[in-house]
Amino acid sequence: MKALEKSKAAEGLWMIDAPVPEIGPDDVLIRINKTGICGTDIHIWNWDDWAQKTVPVPLITGHEFAGQIVEIGGNVEGLQIGQRCSGEGHLIGKTSRQSRAGKFHLDPATRGIGVNEQGAFAQYLRLPAFNVVPLPDEISDDIGAILDPLGNAVHTALSFDMVGEDVLITGAGPIGIMAAAVARHVGARHVVVTDVNQARLDLAAQVADVVPVNVANEDLAPVISRLKMKQGFDVGLEMSGNQRALDQMVEAMTMGGRIAMLGIPPGKSPVDWSRIVFKAITIKGVYGREIFETWYKMIAMLQNGLDVSAVITHRFGVDDFEQGFAAMKSGQSGKVVLDWT
Ligand code: NAD
Ligand code: ZN
Repeated sequence: MKALEKSKAAEGLWMIDAPVPEIGPDDVLIRINKTGICGTDIHIWNWDDWAQKTVPVPLITGHEFAGQIVEIGGNVEGLQIGQRCSGEGHLIGKTSRQSRAGKFHLDPATRGIGVNEQGAFAQYLRLPAFNVVPLPDEISDDIGAILDPLGNAVHTALSFDMVGEDVLITGAGPIGIMAAAVARHVGARHVVVTDVNQARLDLAAQVADVVPVNVANEDLAPVISRLKMKQGFDVGLEMSGNQRALDQMVEAMTMGGRIAMLGIPPGKSPVDWSRIVFKAITIKGVYGREIFETWYKMIAMLQNGLDVSAVITHRFGVDDFEQGFAAMKSGQSGKVVLDWT
């Protein structure tokens, strides 16, 4: 089968001919139709410090996928050959306190497909049946291939009650944009999205009814008064990983504001803790998706009017994967989807 592999400890990914994976009794084999390129895949392509410390070579990369079940292990019940599916790319253990309490997304023994284990950038993927998420007919393979990052957006956005709240999202990357669409969908009042990249702010405004603010040349204070907010934002979703964005967010929050942080700052980030204390701000770190509550909620929302399809800006056949990665690296794209069929 075709597969995109990190074959050696150097920049790039390589298309190889790999054996179709063999499945165990608790697994399924999925024929991959579409995959999404993630920021994580760019880190792996670039072979940065994080990738060098985390990713074994050789490894088939990729973790955002949609496909169809073509083989089922002997112990597996409730899934059929031909079933369209996506799936949770975090492979969890079952013995930790967190897993035994049903908080699977907090299992410290989690391993990621395409990061620690063979991934989804391939014509076939072996996945534990536990991780499979069946796709209803109305969810296309394109959307199925971006449910992993949509799940990050949904998990973060649903961290705090947003009904009628004024919401600030820092970072109009694909995840920030999808979180903005979710905030709108669940009934936030104002949704302000910041970035320093105008193309991405324009895309955010195209995907959802938001107030885009380019913080390279506009401050948030005039936006807060223009929108007639009394003090500032009620809920903040940090989705840039940029420390200036977090600083600006803390400044723009109301007393008792709540911040959910998905963005990963590079290294240690100086924070004015006294301001957080005096504003009585709650900060929640967000990792991955809730397994499987986030999946349930996002599929239900997609079936009831949540539309994030415009966040996919580029589609390529898998033989043109280099163009796909170039589009992602350009900073001018939303999600980039590769077609494996
Ligand atoms: P991305 O890199 O595509 O988007 C980040 C955006 O932030 C970019 O558009 C960038 O221009 C913008 N930005 C830079 N400086 C800014 C500033 N000062 N103010 C506002 N915006 C600014 O990332 P993405 O794929 O959308 O992911 C969002 C973040 O979430 C990243 O930091 C990513 O590493 C992180 N992430 C975390 C998890 C998790 O489980 N915690 C999972 C996936 C992604
Ligand atoms: Zn991803």
